[in-house]
Amino acid sequence: MSRPVEAIVSLANIRANYALAARLAPDSQVLAVIKANAYGHGAARVAVALDTADAFGVASVAEAIVLRDAGITQPIVLLGGVFEPAEIHEVEVYGLQTVIHSSAQLEWFLSRKSAARLVIWLKMDIGMHRLGFTPQEYTAAWQRLSDSGQVQELVLMSHFPCADHGDDTLTKSQVQVFNEGVAGLNGQKSMANSAALIRYPESRYNWVRPGIMLYGANPFPDQNLLGINLEPAMTLRSRLVSVRELAAGESVGYGQRWRTTVPIRLGTVAVGYGDGYPRHAVDGTPVLVRGKRCRLVGRVSMDFITVDLSEAPDSRVDDEVILWGDSLPVEQVAEFAGTISYDLLTGVTQRVKYLYSD
Ligand SMILES: *Cc1c(COP(=O)(O)O)cnc(C)c1O
Repeated sequence: MSRPVEAIVSLANIRANYALAARLAPDSQVLAVIKANAYGHGAARVAVALDTADAFGVASVAEAIVLRDAGITQPIVLLGGVFEPAEIHEVEVYGLQTVIHSSAQLEWFLSRKSAARLVIWLKMDIGMHRLGFTPQEYTAAWQRLSDSGQVQELVLMSHFPCADHGDDTLTKSQVQVFNEGVAGLNGQKSMANSAALIRYPESRYNWVRPGIMLYGANPFPDQNLLGINLEPAMTLRSRLVSVRELAAGESVGYGQRWRTTVPIRLGTVAVGYGDGYPRHAVDGTPVLVRGKRCRLVGRVSMDFITVDLSEAPDSRVDDEVILWGDSLPVEQVAEFAGTISYDLLTGVTQRVKYLYSD
């Protein structure tokens, strides 16, 4: 047997999650966000599977080219726009759409030589203060683009900083800011990521932009998703490669972080931070051995983790171990590692073998 770490990706579950997003926003078109290699799931495979998606969102021209090379014909939007003027040429060549979020990008676009008309997503900063034109600057940018003769269509867009947590006052007031900022301006509108699409119907508009929910992770770290059933798209699994009995008072792993207080059976699993398993996972992080919830003990190393097998007394070398996915939501594991599901999913590394099921 070769090294047994595998990411099993269910394309059927991704399709089901997409269909759920589309049902929740029946009057909107759905742009499936598949940046960062579809949050670690494989962008080309995911895009081909989502053949009914209305559009795709990526973070770079390189990510868009991967999709065109895979035969994807739907619109593809560069969610962060271009990073240098020369990339506008590639936007044309590959038939892409692009966000414009800064005056630099606006000048690059307006001063280009080509006469090709492009679809532009013009971004407003409603309070995240990361990208976008302020509500005050927004109308002038819209006007210059509208007058340029270079635009086929303008989509008025924004992005929420807090749709996934906290009370709803801030997000509701940001919808208001957006509405006032775009009042009287022509164009389709787009605000909602996964969390907003689920929690704020008033933010759905013409286009919704779900990312994390397509992969089956709950976008609300501290809440249940009332009545909404997302299917986990990725199961990261490996196997027990060693089992031993330890007496009380023995230490486990690098730095002796964990010590036995009673005799236990300790299992070693072939997965580590070199595969994208989070190094900061604490003692007690859940790991499924033979379907039984066991506790990670000791520090995560590059190639292995160690698990207290008390809850799986029948376990043996070669038994399957699930790190997240089926029956163990990735967002739970993320919490034990002090991070979010997005981080774990995008962090799965090259050496993990990917298997796809339809
Ligand atoms: C990544 C991204 C999304 C998707 O966000 P999720 O929280 O994963 O649903 C939507 N819109 C923009 C502009 C993004 O960059």
